[in-house]
Amino acid sequence: MRIPPRLLAFGVVASTWATPAVTRADAAPAPAAPVPAAASPPAAAPAPAPGVPMSITGQVVEARGRWTADRRTIVTDAVIVGDDGARTTVTQLGGRADGFGMQLIPGPARLEVGDRVLVRARAATTRRGRPRIVADDVTVLAGGATPFVRTGPTPAGHYLYWRSGCVFLTYDVDGTVDLAGDSERAVMDQVLATWNAAIEGCSYLQLLATAPAQGEVGHDDVNLITFRDDTWCRPATDGEPPFCLPVRAAALTTVVFVDDASSPRDGEIVDADVEINGADFSISTAGSSQGTPPCLSDLANTLTHELGHVMGLEHTCLAPDDPPRVDDRGDAVPACIATSDPTILDATMYNYQECGETKKASPEADDVAAVCAIYRLADDPGTCEPIGGGTSGCCDAGAGDRGATGAAALAALTLAGLARRRRLTSPRA
Ligand SMILES: [Zn+2]
Repeated sequence: MRIPPRLLAFGVVASTWATPAVTRADAAPAPAAPVPAAASPPAAAPAPAPGVPMSITGQVVEARGRWTADRRTIVTDAVIVGDDGARTTVTQLGGRADGFGMQLIPGPARLEVGDRVLVRARAATTRRGRPRIVADDVTVLAGGATPFVRTGPTPAGHYLYWRSGCVFLTYDVDGTVDLAGDSERAVMDQVLATWNAAIEGCSYLQLLATAPAQGEVGHDDVNLITFRDDTWCRPATDGEPPFCLPVRAAALTTVVFVDDASSPRDGEIVDADVEINGADFSISTAGSSQGTPPCLSDLANTLTHELGHVMGLEHTCLAPDDPPRVDDRGDAVPACIATSDPTILDATMYNYQECGETKKASPEADDVAAVCAIYRLADDPGTCEPIGGGTSGCCDAGAGDRGATGAAALAALTLAGLARRRRLTSPRA
């Protein structure tokens, strides 16, 4: 493949999803509980008397390592959402901060975002009398955090990632005719804000919007979010015919990344564009759309999923045409038709969506855990630069590589519905 001179050798992954027509009987509103709302410190529960032992069972939704004031020790402040819904902040010895890790050997398991844990803790105070809850022992419970799936790896074994601490996104100035005026922009702003709030307790990555602009999909240092209202195809260019996109896909993300085993940047994403299908679906918000296709594609639902791809996440299960993959623990990712695990089927990164669905608009614990595993707070590069800008050297053609293409297309909901019926009649594992 001949790479235009201004491009590095990059791989491209196009990932798409969704289609509908079938409404799943188990469609339910996104669960409110496990969505980490990082940012502000959780409301402090009344401080128990010092020394009182307690036991907390729940999910870790934030874990932030820091050096103590004397810079001698790393401690981790973690927020656990208990099975009763209460949020408790506990402090544990050890963790990661500023590029260092500190571990006690032997010591309790680390409090990691996404894990379901049993923590034995006790109330205590600092020398200045400030109350704390100290984690004495941590047990990661079996069947805890849902494994997550990243995009990749490259042939050299690297999963995809952004190097900067920020990903800048540009809305196509034309927007979509399905939503009145420019109202889609507020929805997209909200999607970015929702992701940022969900991950800020454990990740440095931020999604930022630039001024809307005219644009087209491609490696151009602009991460475009665009709507295809007339036809689900890319327009013809001087040298190429129109390319149509996978049928039944409600949206598609195209990622360009360094694909060069000899480069230290192997796996680095250098451009990502999102295309939203307004030709076959009516782009909607709050259940309403000016479009004519009968199937509503809720913009927040669709875009939240696509931005997961932009950040480097892959689907939670395998569509029929997908190659085998492994999750973060090295276990095989199950086929979508072979799982009934609600943490897979209800995740934002689940492959399919229903007409009018909105539950993907709130990232779930394993979606958050995936982002936080890639872009951990402790690894904050301290940079927030647009691609192609600053000193990133993004488009220096020095790497001299080969390009690679891969496609992960999702089947449609009709397919998912079919799979479910199939499972009922001839179950397979
Ligand atoms: Zn997808």
